[in-house]
Amino acid sequence: MSGKVVLVGAGPGEAGLLTVKALEFIRQADVIVYDRLVNPALLKERRPECELIYVGKEPSHHPIPQAEIEQILVNQARQNKLVIRLKSGDPYVFGRGGEEGETLHAAGIPFEVVPGVTSAIGGLAYAGIPVTHRDCASSFHVITGHLKEGSDPLDWTSLARLDGTLIFLMGMTQLPSICANLIQHGRRPDTAAAVVEWASRSRQRTVTGDLTTICAKVAEANIGAPGLIVVGDVVKLRDKLNFFEKAPLFRKHILLPRARAGRSELAAQITALGGEVTLYPGIRIEKLTDRALMNAVLASLPEYEEIVFASAEAVTLFIEGLLEAGKDNRALSGIRLTAIGKLTKEKLREYGLAADILVSRRSADIIRQACAGNWRQGTKALLAGSEKHTAQLADELGGAAEFASLPLYREVLETERPVDLSKFDAVCFSSSASVEHLLSVLSAEEQARLRSMKLLSIGPMTSRTIRKQGLEVYREAKAAQPESLLAVLLEEAGEVMPS
Ligand code: SAH
Repeated sequence: MSGKVVLVGAGPGEAGLLTVKALEFIRQADVIVYDRLVNPALLKERRPECELIYVGKEPSHHPIPQAEIEQILVNQARQNKLVIRLKSGDPYVFGRGGEEGETLHAAGIPFEVVPGVTSAIGGLAYAGIPVTHRDCASSFHVITGHLKEGSDPLDWTSLARLDGTLIFLMGMTQLPSICANLIQHGRRPDTAAAVVEWASRSRQRTVTGDLTTICAKVAEANIGAPGLIVVGDVVKLRDKLNFFEKAPLFRKHILLPRARAGRSELAAQITALGGEVTLYPGIRIEKLTDRALMNAVLASLPEYEEIVFASAEAVTLFIEGLLEAGKDNRALSGIRLTAIGKLTKEKLREYGLAADILVSRRSADIIRQACAGNWRQGTKALLAGSEKHTAQLADELGGAAEFASLPLYREVLETERPVDLSKFDAVCFSSSASVEHLLSVLSAEEQARLRSMKLLSIGPMTSRTIRKQGLEVYREAKAAQPESLLAVLLEEAGEVMPS
């Protein structure tokens, strides 16, 4: 039986510019075959079992032949898999998506297409350039700049005559010849032009000029591929429409080592302010399937006076286990529920359960302070959390009550893509665990490199852990809160926190 191939557009670069349908397919994929310009952050959304096949074409390396890529798609689909062919921008805009579709059609493999935001339009929007405008451009033309030596297929006479916006993709090495041809065939030499490198990513750079000056300016700024070349008066609107490059954290790339699995609020806030975040190492949850332990705990549930939930994930997995065993919330009646962390409390609420006690952090001292009043010799309390949480808490809380551990999952550090430390402006440590996680995955050489980087810390405890590793804290947040860390990032960028 044959699977299916979906040609999916990944958008111009910023992760948020993916369509809802594309995200759904990435989350369901058995295999993702992806290109160089696809933002790797999008791949994090895949299932743990999903296989990744990189078929990127490095500009200076021998590319994987198109026929081979098409063969990979056919072979994978024939193994009854859902194959996502993830391509930058829109799959049919110079993405060779049409050819891939033809091959799949010939092989009798079902396929569909999820259009994407093309860099030709969306990328330019991020540089403050609208492709059309009532006053100056009533059409736009997207043209390949990838001109084969000696056989220029472009009809320059017609192109130069168009008064719409001209957009060249894959044209960076041909920029001088593009400008010369347009002028030679009659386009005004003072026609505005711009080049946008890495559009919509935090490293986006834009250079503007006209057909006579743009080449020198691009060379001077050392701007290269991937780049969009745009010719036309719409470029002049950039002064008014340039929202992205004016964002407070624009061009700031932050390394954010994860402390725990799940959504990172801080990452979302940095991105919203125009910065780019790499979550490294990431953390994946691996559910533990010790049914026997779960069943034993559920059978003796009435004996427990208290359940301590160490994380939101623990709540979800516990309730799932309860339901799978044919029980529900009523089995928890009369049991005191303690939530460690706000997110844990909120998760309980989602399941219709109110936490009796909220403990701000997973620190034995704080937990003891909050709970000791309820604990006597012989109080039976269940610790539900990750393998590490339950072992640590049982150890640290010692004989304060009679603890039983229910490890529900394991946290696995995600490091399959190596990280290049040189591209980051700062590292934000949001807890001691984030420090430990990063150091555990870096080589000795990379650890040494951290010494010359700006290490930002959320608070005194995290700073202590950083220093214990022989590293220096560049700045510490005033209050041990993510917002306070964000304020430090903004100050570093010469901005103040927007109210
Ligand atoms: N299907 C893609 C284009 C693929 S061809 C799309 O719709 O956007 C690859 C070319 O696209 C690159 O050489 C470059 O010219 C352009 N490109 C793609 N993403 C880009 C980006 N983020 N910034 C600048 N140029 C980009």
